[in-house]
Amino acid sequence: MNVYLQQLTKKFANVTAVNKLTLHLEDKKLIGLLGPSGCGKSTTLFMLAGLLEPTEGKILFDEKDVTKVETEKRGIGLVFQNYALYPHMTVMENITFPLINLKVKKEEAKKRAMEMAELVQIGDLLKRRPKELSGGQQQRVAIARALVKQPGLLLLDEPLSNLDARLRIETREEIRRIQKEVGITTVFVTHDQEEALSISDKIAVLDKGVLLQYDTPQEVYKNP
Ligand code: ADP
Ligand code: ADP
Repeated sequence: MNVYLQQLTKKFANVTAVNKLTLHLEDKKLIGLLGPSGCGKSTTLFMLAGLLEPTEGKILFDEKDVTKVETEKRGIGLVFQNYALYPHMTVMENITFPLINLKVKKEEAKKRAMEMAELVQIGDLLKRRPKELSGGQQQRVAIARALVKQPGLLLLDEPLSNLDARLRIETREEIRRIQKEVGITTVFVTHDQEEALSISDKIAVLDKGVLLQYDTPQEVYKNP
């Protein structure tokens, strides 16, 4: 899916968090959204997710204007830094939850959850509960849960920030592999330049709500 942000703007009382952001997120690409704390990354992601309403501007998913479409109807997968798994549910129940909500039959939901678990390589952990998993494993479960409804867009908000250095590298390579295997347009929010350079097809650099640069990691590295 191609995603177009057109003159997207979000103002809070006395701050312009995102200022006339125009950006084409290309089909099947992993786009890093990079910049220092407070530059507008989360606000942009929340608008893409339908969790914050833009003050001005538009968001298109392919030809469809989704600016006023609610989150549940956008067909997106969301992963946050704190995993947000349901603590009382097993891994299997966590992954099938979005499908059960959609009234998909239990057997079908299980089959799809198993496929997702294989994809993120946690097929042997399905009976565990989140607290019995490492941070990296929890994040894989969160990714499986985000992908199980086959969304057109995957939104990752600092998904590695709660992991230790070794797991950060391992998990980021996993995210890269999964993203390419599924072929899903993905936005990866990070304040870490090295992380953005290593994982992205293209990087959008934000500063004070304004787009400074939108280019390949090679170009961003040469002209930071
Ligand atoms: P991060 O830099 O990790 O994204 P922030 O400190 O920018 O975290 O924001 C954390 C939360 O607080 C977000 O939900 C954001 O919308 C909210 N927030 C940030 N700045 C303000 C503010 N000035 N007033 C009210 N809420 C804010
Ligand atoms: P980032 O994710 O890059 O850290 P944010 O998108 O969270 O940045 O914030 C961008 C700017 O908007 C910051 O100045 C922040 O303080 C402000 N902001 C974010 N959320 C709110 C809010 N709910 N109310 C007021 N100001 C906010």
